[in-house]
Amino acid sequence: MLNVKLNQTPIEYVKGIGPYRGDLLKKELGIFTAGDLLKHYPFRYIDRTEFHKVNEINPQWPSVQVVGRLIRLSEVGVKRARRLVGVFSDETGSVELVWFKGIAYLQKLLKVNEVYVVYGKPQLYRGVINITHPEMETYQSSSSSTISTYIQPVYSTTEKLKKSGLDSKGIRQVMLSLIQHNINQVAENLPEYVIESNQLMGKREAVRAIHFPKSQEELNSAVSRLKYDELFFIQLGLLKNKQLTKEKFKGHYFSQVGESFNNFYFNRLPFPLTNAQKRVVKEIRNDTRSGFQMNRLIQGDVGSGKTVVALLSMLLAIDNGYQACMMAPTEILAQQHYKGIQELLGEGIAKVHLLTGSTPAKERRDLHAALEAGEIHILIGTHALIEDKVKFKNLGLVVIDEQHRFGVEQRAKLWLKNHTPPHMLVMTATPIPRTLAMTLYGDLDISIIDELPAGRKPIKTVHFYENRRQRVFGFMREQITQGRQVYVVYPLIKESEKLDLLFLEAGLEGLSREFPLPEYKISIVHGQMTPKEKEGEMQRFVQGKTQIMVATTVIEVGVNVPNASVMIIENAERFGLSQLHQLRGRVGRGAEQSYCILMSGDKLSKEGKERLQIMVETNDGFRIAEADLKLRGPGDISGTQQSGVLDLKMANLVTDQELLSHIRNQVIAIFDKDPQLMLPENGRLNAYFQGKKKGMFWEKIS
Ligand code: ADP
Ligand code: MG
Repeated sequence: MLNVKLNQTPIEYVKGIGPYRGDLLKKELGIFTAGDLLKHYPFRYIDRTEFHKVNEINPQWPSVQVVGRLIRLSEVGVKRARRLVGVFSDETGSVELVWFKGIAYLQKLLKVNEVYVVYGKPQLYRGVINITHPEMETYQSSSSSTISTYIQPVYSTTEKLKKSGLDSKGIRQVMLSLIQHNINQVAENLPEYVIESNQLMGKREAVRAIHFPKSQEELNSAVSRLKYDELFFIQLGLLKNKQLTKEKFKGHYFSQVGESFNNFYFNRLPFPLTNAQKRVVKEIRNDTRSGFQMNRLIQGDVGSGKTVVALLSMLLAIDNGYQACMMAPTEILAQQHYKGIQELLGEGIAKVHLLTGSTPAKERRDLHAALEAGEIHILIGTHALIEDKVKFKNLGLVVIDEQHRFGVEQRAKLWLKNHTPPHMLVMTATPIPRTLAMTLYGDLDISIIDELPAGRKPIKTVHFYENRRQRVFGFMREQITQGRQVYVVYPLIKESEKLDLLFLEAGLEGLSREFPLPEYKISIVHGQMTPKEKEGEMQRFVQGKTQIMVATTVIEVGVNVPNASVMIIENAERFGLSQLHQLRGRVGRGAEQSYCILMSGDKLSKEGKERLQIMVETNDGFRIAEADLKLRGPGDISGTQQSGVLDLKMANLVTDQELLSHIRNQVIAIFDKDPQLMLPENGRLNAYFQGKKKGMFWEKIS
């Protein structure tokens, strides 16, 4: 947290900005205050100890920095080939500088015979080394800074800002003056003991040094400090939230394990629970009699048996006089849960109903009434559950399946369906790497089902190129002859639903030739069908009337067909690893050996090959999620997209995992010792929340 004054000083009042540039900064970079500007950290530095001579330049280098003179500047070519070409030399030789954009502007700006510092990516073009769209700065201005002599900040900016004088150099000048005059207003925000035990640089020094470091070591220290800061305050916020929830919300008290639970557990449950399932049921049991509201996330790989854990929890609610509901992201999944749960329960244990978008109006009205009268014990459904008209008599537990499909708001709406908020159990089959879970769901308790029911044979996975197509067809025939069923999945193309269909239709043509009627029957499910049509096709497959299910990824979630033993994924390179893993989880649910065949085009990047290789090597969802995080970054992992938590400026969720765990533990220890942050040593943390309450930092993490 910076000093209040800096965060309240409008950007236009900062020396060197004024109203015009101020408006631009707001629009272009979202910088509204002096404090915001200070947080506009450099994205790289010019290390003035790292200059190269022109004759040393290797076109393979990612970037190079040279000092030299602009010898010539001329416009060449016409129309699309029109460009500005500069000849740039030092005492060892010359390179070409090339611009395709902003030609008129640059012609005014650049001066022949001036000495410049040039930075960019070298390339070899027709035997000549050139640098396209280099960053240029006059040598003089690059050495004019009074604080730093060697390492200079480079700031991101935009065309419009550049035209108003706020190119990187312009920003540097404003920043320099701001820091010279106002750095004393930057206040320390971490407790002394935290700074000491982690050997951190002070906040003020770090803010100064991130912009104008005196040495590489100093820069490193500043980066460490600001990373620490960033992660610390995220965790502080999350854990404070968790604690507030506990204080504020008394939970329903499930005092007893009663008849519904016991009757089901001892008389109906067709299999023994795995140890992991037992452990999680116990955790839920403990939460629901703690007097506080439960907020628990269950992570468990596909097929790990989350549903039955949810069911046992719902029975617990019923035994204590409450109702329960379970929300699933799709109609198909909701129906499957409904049928599955009814089958498991049999008659007489609990009254279960289904509510989805396609429940007819009349039935819906009756259902609403029965629900309010408390005649329905368990309501299963889709988003339809959230509607205001759906009122419970006494909702004690909410289960959300595949929780990453729902936004926080939707969760919140269910939560508000009772004046005492119900216990919340959210489930996901997308294992989230630990660090990500800590950051995304740091305010939830987490249970992990890390064990599959006994007797499951691990799915065999292979990666084939197109040339094995005939063998794959042969294998499908073999499996179908043995009575098994086969999925063939095509990628969902984000940009175009039509393209999805094209992929699917092209594949379908080949399949129908190889697997002709009447011997073979094929179900087709894709995004452009109505829910009803989809359901019909799914049903045919579930009932074994068709042997092959051709689909886009609509079957990703939850669908359970134990007799299906082969999953073929076309264009597998187009899927994320976690998604592939989810799809693979559709098979291997019965007693038979199951297979997953990843088909890919012949032209596969090295990275693409590696990714598919990971799928071949492991069935462990957590390992796959970690790999996915490393390969693609957190933004691509399901469920992270809507979360602003991932807009980290300094820290990196992939490379700073250890630091994050360390910080989380420290923050937990702080709250353990001083839950209200009332000890004098935690004064700064207390002040942080006081400030937040007043709304001064509402949009700031720190
Ligand atoms: P998921 O965690 O993917 O939601 P499900 O709850 O759908 O998994 O369970 C997958 C299958 O495994 C279901 O058919 C379920 O009945 C079965 N199952 C669950 N727990 C066990 C167990 N302990 N032993 C044997 N089968 C189980
Ligand atoms: Mg499930």
